[in-house]
Amino acid sequence: MAQRSFLERATRDGWPAGTAFALIAGVFGCTFLALLFFLAVDQRLVLEGSQRLLDKTVPSTLEHFRLARNVEQLRLEGERVLSGPTPVARQQALFIISLLASHPALMADPRAAELAREVERFLARAAREEMSEESYAAWTALSSRLSLLADDVSIEGVNLATDDLRQMSAIMVQSRVKLAVVLALVAAFAGLVLFLIHRHLIRPLQMMDEALSALRAGAPVKPFAPAAMREIGAVEGAIGQLREVMHENETARQQLVLLATTDDLTGMFNRRHFMALAEEEIKRAQRYDRPLCVAMADLDFFKQINDSYGHAVGDLVLTSIAELLTKTLRQSDCACRYGGEEFAFLFSETSLAEAHRLAERLRHRVAKNPLQLSDDVCLPVTLSLGLADASRGSLATSLKRADEALYEAKKQGRNRVFIALSADHGSFRGSALPEKNSHSQPP
Ligand code: GH3
Ligand code: MG
Ligand code: MG
Repeated sequence: MAQRSFLERATRDGWPAGTAFALIAGVFGCTFLALLFFLAVDQRLVLEGSQRLLDKTVPSTLEHFRLARNVEQLRLEGERVLSGPTPVARQQALFIISLLASHPALMADPRAAELAREVERFLARAAREEMSEESYAAWTALSSRLSLLADDVSIEGVNLATDDLRQMSAIMVQSRVKLAVVLALVAAFAGLVLFLIHRHLIRPLQMMDEALSALRAGAPVKPFAPAAMREIGAVEGAIGQLREVMHENETARQQLVLLATTDDLTGMFNRRHFMALAEEEIKRAQRYDRPLCVAMADLDFFKQINDSYGHAVGDLVLTSIAELLTKTLRQSDCACRYGGEEFAFLFSETSLAEAHRLAERLRHRVAKNPLQLSDDVCLPVTLSLGLADASRGSLATSLKRADEALYEAKKQGRNRVFIALSADHGSFRGSALPEKNSHSQPP
């Protein structure tokens, strides 16, 4: 039961790395032990074979050769008994025959012992009597039997050694085949282990590394394939959770950045963010001596819109004017809701004359686009702007001068653009007559 639940867990969550490692090591160890066992068995067989060759086969072969030589000697001495040159020589040969016939090497072999006795008897008789033709024929038969026996014994000796050598050679061939099979098994197993390590350890680690690099770079992370090892699965799961948390954090951070830099109602930059951007831009422009202008804008008689139509309509006016202003501005311009119904602008790489044209365009677009509250109620809105060069002096000074120009525009009747001509107070140039369908009087 416990085994079943372990297998179920292993299939579901992957194998614990320790168990997987122990399994692989166990299988590899068994294969290696099997290899050692097979080699030891074969080596023992070869050792036994060579020992047998040394202890039994070689002496036995030598005995066979010795016996063959004695038999052959018996035949040669027999020849000398029958055809020796002198009676002494024949007697000597007969004596050697009787020695050979009683030699233990001959006695040990029944065939040789019997044939030797027969030869001894025959030659003893032949030495005493005159040799007839029949006796010669009988000797020829005996002599060929001796030769045949000597050949047979030699061949038996050779066969003994050959059989043993053949057996050992068969064992060596078998051992070579076994070694080749076991080595092939070990190679296949090693290949399988390397494949499994690459697939279930190296590749997942590479994937995790890629995922962590992607997380660091803020790039999307590819989902992981199900892991075969529990610990790898756990780390992948942790990376997945980390990815979720980082995604949530990034979303929260972006929301915070949005909240910290933009205005809730209009979606334009807020004053703090605008000031930070403008400070940077003004530094850059002054360092490289580039033209730069700032502008302040204020909706005319906005309090009365609130008073007449309510705060909600006032908000709607602010939102639609902000949208209109943003659409009219160039990509390089920067604008913000400075506060209430006031807006501030920063025109980079823009001379005062160009900024004036742009400010006029803004004023004109606002004046030309009254807010359609219902089918029969159309609410005209106008905007006054004050403009100042910001390529010299601080941002605060430039904004103050633009604000003074705005004040002058208000004073001169609203719906117009005024430019602060010099750093001196009170030097302004006004422009723009009210549009035909706009108002410079309270709505
Ligand atoms: P002027 O032409 O001289 O600028 O007159 P004005 O009425 O526009 O100026 P004033 O400063 O008297 O009024 C500004 C009004 O803007 C007062 C305030 O209630 C209103 N206001 C400020 N912020 C908001 C806002 O977020 N929503 C709405 N609906 N009104 C706002
Ligand atoms: Mg105001
Ligand atoms: Mg106003």
